[in-house]
Formats: sequence, structure tokens, C-alpha cells
Amino acid sequence: MEHGGVFEMALEQLGSTAKLLKMDPNTLRVLGCTERELTVHLPVVMDDGHIEVFEGHRVQHSSARGPCKGGIRYHQDVTLDEVKALSMWMTWKCAVVNIPYGGAKGGIKVDPSKLSFEEVRRLTRRYTVAIMPIIGPHRDIPAPDVNTNAETMGWIMDTVSMYQGSTVLDIVTGKSIELGGSLGRREATGRGVMFVTLELLNRMNLTPAKTRIAVQGFGNVGSVSADLLKKAGCNIQAISDISGAYYCEKGLPISDMIAYCSTGRGKTLEGFSAPGVSKIDPKELFELDVDILVPAALEKQINVENAEKIKAKAVVEGANGPTTPEAERLLIKKGKYVVPDILANAGGVVVSYFEWVQSIQSFFWDEDGVNANLKKVIVSSFDAVWDTAQREKQDLRHAAMMIAVSRVAKALEIRGIFP
Ligand code: NAD
Repeated sequence: MEHGGVFEMALEQLGSTAKLLKMDPNTLRVLGCTERELTVHLPVVMDDGHIEVFEGHRVQHSSARGPCKGGIRYHQDVTLDEVKALSMWMTWKCAVVNIPYGGAKGGIKVDPSKLSFEEVRRLTRRYTVAIMPIIGPHRDIPAPDVNTNAETMGWIMDTVSMYQGSTVLDIVTGKSIELGGSLGRREATGRGVMFVTLELLNRMNLTPAKTRIAVQGFGNVGSVSADLLKKAGCNIQAISDISGAYYCEKGLPISDMIAYCSTGRGKTLEGFSAPGVSKIDPKELFELDVDILVPAALEKQINVENAEKIKAKAVVEGANGPTTPEAERLLIKKGKYVVPDILANAGGVVVSYFEWVQSIQSFFWDEDGVNANLKKVIVSSFDAVWDTAQREKQDLRHAAMMIAVSRVAKALEIRGIFP
């Protein structure tokens, strides 16, 4: 599969889990397909008056356990194949942390850094209307992903509300606090990464003070993960983003780097410098002598080309699908841990669930309450995955998948096949 699409990679993970679970082939046939795939073409009047047409998708993999849930990605490499894989991973993610959702994902093939603010806003509103027939507060609830954020979610919420004639808070999560968002949602994915990393360190008999970490990606997930892991006492030695990779043996100044990103256009680390910080080849980031590697950018970043060179004792998947199955087998053979995406980055969807509940009830929690509930869900899910891995003598991904897939399969079995 190394050269195949990411949906093939998702199917390979499902297939090997189904074998372990001795799953009924009928159930596997259902779970190996998405429920619904919508492709839309979106004409947008650009600032100079000409019309560009963008391609977008919304895919719902499974609604067996509840409404579909998943982010929306804006990226020049978005394909239907990728959105399908991401929607399937959302199904497993919601199931492994046991929140009552199925899986979905959306995306538009666009490099938003090449568009003006108003062009991105028009594109978002047009996309929202195009996918409106299949989304809804009890059907499919979008959220942010790569290159989308609270502002994007606000535009989606406003567009749906204009059509409905009343404000619909529960149509998206990841909204601004002023628009019914949840305290702690912006940081939730990175906070979840931090919780699972600390749990793992504990199992590895390592203390944060002795832990060196490298993080690929410095967006929502990478920056918050790095910040909170540093605050927990770890040494963040390397960070990369689209502009390059930055290294400091004694530890990078994460809060200065976050402040730098928030000022620059394009929100990257381009041009960042500080005493003791050097620029390294981004490929080198994967080969550093660190304890933990956190890929928090895009898919297939750890593959057969670099897996052999990884010195880290564990990979904590902040991104979705950053490790190819072949690379993962190599890492596991060498006795390394890979904490799978569906567990490691589930913090975002868990607090999205809290936000949805708060929006429905119009009753909002304080931040300590959100973070404490998040910790409870992530730590207990980590414990369950760890214990399953020990009991079944499996790696962490297969253990997480066994829990998740059997929950979805059970829901399917109880519901039966319609009609
Ligand atoms: P983002 O757009 O906020 O950030 C992406 C980061 O990756 C940016 O810093 C960008 O410069 C960097 N990047 C892109 N290409 C790179 C490359 N080739 N090398 C190094 N860095 C590169 O996106 P995000 O929301 O942080 O999402 C990152 C990953 O986490 C994605 O896989 C996403 O699906 C996953 N994820 C996000 C959330 C969420 O709540 N935002 C939740 C779960 C999973």
C-alpha cells in the first residue's frame, strides 16, 4: 500500500483488525464502505472579477453510533480518496473514546494562502450551501481541520442560520467562544496529545524532565501540543512547519514561536530566530535522537523511506494517518510504541462533543470543567487501549482499533440492516 491512496491504508487497518476480531464478513463489507460521498463544484467570484471553480467533498463513513462528525480541510492536495479515509478514521476515533457519533470529513482542494480573506469567506459560504442537504445538528456536524479555524466555523454557522431563519448553534463545533463555542476547544486536540504522551511516559518509566520531543507541524495541533508538553516539563528540541525546521538542544522557546506565528501573514515560522536556535533540514527532524516524535501535520510523513532512521522510542500521532502501515510494522519490530491517531488526537472531537452538548442545552461550562472531563475521557481511553494491547499481545493501534471497530460493529448488529 506504500504507494496507494490513504483510503487503501485505512482499509488495510480495518482488514487486519477484522481478522483479529474474527469479524463476520458481512459486517466487514458494510464497514469497508462509506455511507455517503458528496462531491461539489464551487464557483467563486474572485476579487478581480473572474470566476474560479473549486472542488469540494463531504463524506459520511458511518452513522451507526450517532450523527456523523468530522472536520473540514482546505488544502491543495485534498482528494475524495483522502476525505474518505479521514471520515473512516473519525468513525473509529469517536468509538474508541466512546462518544455518541459516527464519522465524517470534508475538504476543498484549495491553497487558501493564495486567496484573499473575502475569497475564502465566499468559498466557505458556497461550500456550506452545497453540502447543506446532508449536514445538520443531528445528522452531520462539521469542525475545523487543516487550514480552517473558529472563523471558518462562524461563517458556516451564519450561512446555515441565514437559510434557516434562526441561529443554529449546534450545526458546527470549534466555533468562537462569542458564538457559542466551548472554552478549551481550540486547545483540546493538543491537550489530548499531552495527556496521552504523559500516560505513555509513565508506562515507559520516563519522567517529563528526562524527555526530549520533536514535533512536526506548528498549527493548531502541533503548537498546542508543544506548548502544553513543555509546560508539563518536557524538552521540546525540534519543531517544523511548512517554512522549515528549527532545533535547540536545550529546548525551543515555544511561547515566543507561537507569538511569532500569530503576527506573520501566512502564520508560519518563516524568518524566526532566537539565541541557540538553528535551522535544520526538515527530514532531519525525524532522525533526531529524541524520546518522542509527534507528527502533527499531514498523512504518510513516516514511511519506509524514513522509518528505519527514527531514533525516537515512541511516535504519538497528533496528525491523522501520519504513519504508513509498512513503516509502523518496522517501528514496532524495533520495539517502539506508536500511539495511534484515533486515540492520540481524539481530544479535539471529545471537546467538540462537549461543545455540541453545551450548544444544544444553551448551558455553558467553565474551562476547568471542560479540561477535567477531557482528561477523564482521554486517560480512561488510553488505559483501556493499553490494557487491551497487553491482554491481546497487540500493538497500540490494533488494540485501539479492536475496541473501536467492535463498538461500531455491535451498534450495526443491534440496529440491523435496513429495510
Ligand atoms: P493546521 O492547518 O492548524 O496546521 C498544520 C501545520 O502543519 C502548519 O503548521 C503547517 O505549516 C504544517 N505543515 C504542513 N505541511 C508540512 C510539511 N510538509 N512539513 C512540516 N509541517 C507542515 O492544522 P491542524 O488542525 O493542526 O491539523 C494537523 C493535523 O492534525 C491534521 O492531520 C489534522 O487532520 C489533525 N487533527 C486536527 C484536529 C483539530 O482539532 N484541528 C483534530 C484531530 C486531528
